Amino acid sequence: MAAVVKVIKKPGRTVAEQVYLPEIAKGLGLAMGRFFKNTFGPKSMKEIATVKYPEETVEYPERFRGIHRLTQRTDGSPRCVACLCCSTACPAQCIHIEPAEYEPDDPRYGYERFPAVFTIDELRCIFCGYCVEACPCDAIRMDTGMHMPPSTRREHFIFDKDTLLSIPGRDGSYLTANPRHEPGDPSHPGVDRERGH
Ligand code: SF4
Ligand code: SF4
Repeated sequence: MAAVVKVIKKPGRTVAEQVYLPEIAKGLGLAMGRFFKNTFGPKSMKEIATVKYPEETVEYPERFRGIHRLTQRTDGSPRCVACLCCSTACPAQCIHIEPAEYEPDDPRYGYERFPAVFTIDELRCIFCGYCVEACPCDAIRMDTGMHMPPSTRREHFIFDKDTLLSIPGRDGSYLTANPRHEPGDPSHPGVDRERGH
């Protein structure tokens, strides 16, 4: 069977379309209108999607993942027990922890460790939040509401333990709302020394 050929007529163009000038004039008119409106018009009339950072900033959403912080206990020590769950979960391998034991006269000795070294490479971090999810102690959070400030120095992006402990949450607190049950405290859910380990 012979193929049926359907001929489609090429759409014609007017002279005005072929010289492009009216369309260019229309585009320029639109651009100039926006320019004058956004530069000299009242603020309520402006249609600007960008902000003049850093003088102006946008409000981040409540669940925005900002730079990390290490939460503190009420005595100011880190809640972190150096279990390495966060560094194990981290897909970017940007958390480095060196655990250490408390002194023998400390009630936490034998129960928990603490991070002698805790660093996060914020430049390598992909802000996935897995470290926060993995932490069993609510010791690491990304609720600071801050993004990494720009810098030309590589070392400025390596946050050590003291830096991480010195960053408050968005509410200004260094603690968390989750209660912390210390070893020796009757509310502590784990074993105690009298009953053995
Ligand atoms: S947010 Fe993700 S990439 Fe960044 S430190 Fe945590 S686990 Fe690693
Ligand atoms: S921050 Fe949390 S998950 Fe990471 S080592 Fe400390 S206690 Fe473990």
